[in-house]
Amino acid sequence: MTYIPEELKVPGYEKVLYFENSSVGLRSIIAIHSTALGPACGGIRVLPYPTKEAALDDVLRLAKGMSYKSAVAGIGFGGGKSVIILDPTKKRPEIFHAFGEFVNMLNGRYISAKDMNVSSPDLLEVKKTTRHVLGIEGVPGSSGDPSPVTARGTFRALQATLEEIAGSRCFTAKKFAIQGLGHVGWDIAEMLVREGAKLWVTDINPSALRRAETQLGAKAVPGDQIYEIECDVFVPCAVGAILNSSTIPRLRCKAVVGCANNQLATDADGMRLNQRGILYAPDFAVNSGGIINIFIEYEGYDQSKALQKADAIYDTMKEIYGRAKKEQLLPVAIANQIAEERLAGRKGYPKTCSAMIK
Ligand code: NAD
Repeated sequence: MTYIPEELKVPGYEKVLYFENSSVGLRSIIAIHSTALGPACGGIRVLPYPTKEAALDDVLRLAKGMSYKSAVAGIGFGGGKSVIILDPTKKRPEIFHAFGEFVNMLNGRYISAKDMNVSSPDLLEVKKTTRHVLGIEGVPGSSGDPSPVTARGTFRALQATLEEIAGSRCFTAKKFAIQGLGHVGWDIAEMLVREGAKLWVTDINPSALRRAETQLGAKAVPGDQIYEIECDVFVPCAVGAILNSSTIPRLRCKAVVGCANNQLATDADGMRLNQRGILYAPDFAVNSGGIINIFIEYEGYDQSKALQKADAIYDTMKEIYGRAKKEQLLPVAIANQIAEERLAGRKGYPKTCSAMIK
C-alpha cells in the first residue's frame, strides 16, 4: 500500500506535511519553514503529543526557530523540523524506516537529524530509507557529538559579553555561575577555569558536582540557589524556560550567556532581564555551534572547520550588541532582525537540491 502525505497549508511556512503509515503505526509531521538559505535542516523529535494539533504547534515553532538559528550562524541551511507522535518507549525500527521514506519524498529539501528521544541507532534506521539524515555518531564522515563545538561557540559568546560588561575579555578572577555540567556545560567550565575564572556550579547529578569540586576547584551550590550567586555571568547549560518571573528577580549577575535552548520562558522575560540591568545573550545565537557542526558534516566533515566557524559567534555577538546599543533595542530583537534580514535577502532554493545532498 502506498501512503500519501497530506499537505497542511500554514501561512509563513514553505511546506508542512502530515504523514501516516498505519501498517507500522507512524504518525508524523515535517515542517519546512524556509529554504531561502539552503535545505531545511532540523532534528526529529519523538513525543507522545496528546493531539495532532499539539504536534503541529510544536513542529512549527521549532522549524521557525531553526531558520533563525541557522541564519544568525551564517550557514547555508534553512529551517525545518519533524515530529513523530509516539510514546518513546514504543519506538521500533519499522517506524523509523517508514519515517525515512517520508523524508525521502522531499528530495533533500528537508534534512533530518537527532532531537529529543532520538538516538543514533534510530537515525541508522532512518538512513536505511533516505540519505537525507545527518549527525549519526559512529558513522564514517559523521560530525559526531556536537558538544565541543557548541562549547567553543558559547565560550566565544562569553568573551564578547565580558567585553560588554567589563570592558575586557580577561576572565581572571571573574565569577561565573553554571547550571548544568553535562556535555556542553562541563567543557565550558573547563575552559573558564583554564582562563582563571572562579566557578559556582549546580547539577541534579551529585557526581558531576563532586567532580567539579575536585577537578576544577568549583564551588558546588544546591539546586535553585545558583540563581542567587553574585557573579559576573550566569551560564544556563541544562534546561529551558529557566529565565522566568520567579527566577529573574533572584538573579545577581550582570549577564546571562549559556547554551541551553529556549532559556526565556516568555518574550516578556527578555524585557524583565533588561529592566533589572542584566544583559541577555540570545540563546539561539550563542548555542548555534550544534547546527554549525551538522552543516560542516553536510559539506564534508572537518572538526577544525567547525570550530573555526563556531569562533565567528564572537563576531556575531559583537554585531548584535553593537546594533542593540545603537538602535536602543534588546539584543534578542537584534538577533531576530539579523536572521530576518538574511532570510529575506535570498529567496528560492533550487528545486533539484537533492543533487547537492551527500
Ligand atoms: P546534557 O544532557 O549532556 O547535560 C545537561 C546537564 O544538566 C546534565 O548534567 C543534567 O544532570 C543537568 N541538569 C538537568 N536538569 C537540571 C536542573 N534542573 N538543574 C541543574 N542541572 C540540571 O546536555 P548538553 O548536551 O550538555 O546540552 C545542554 C543544553 O544545551 C540543553 O538545553 C541542550 O538542548 C542545549 N544545546 C546543546 C547542544 C549540544 O551540542 N549538545 C547544542 C545546542 C543546544
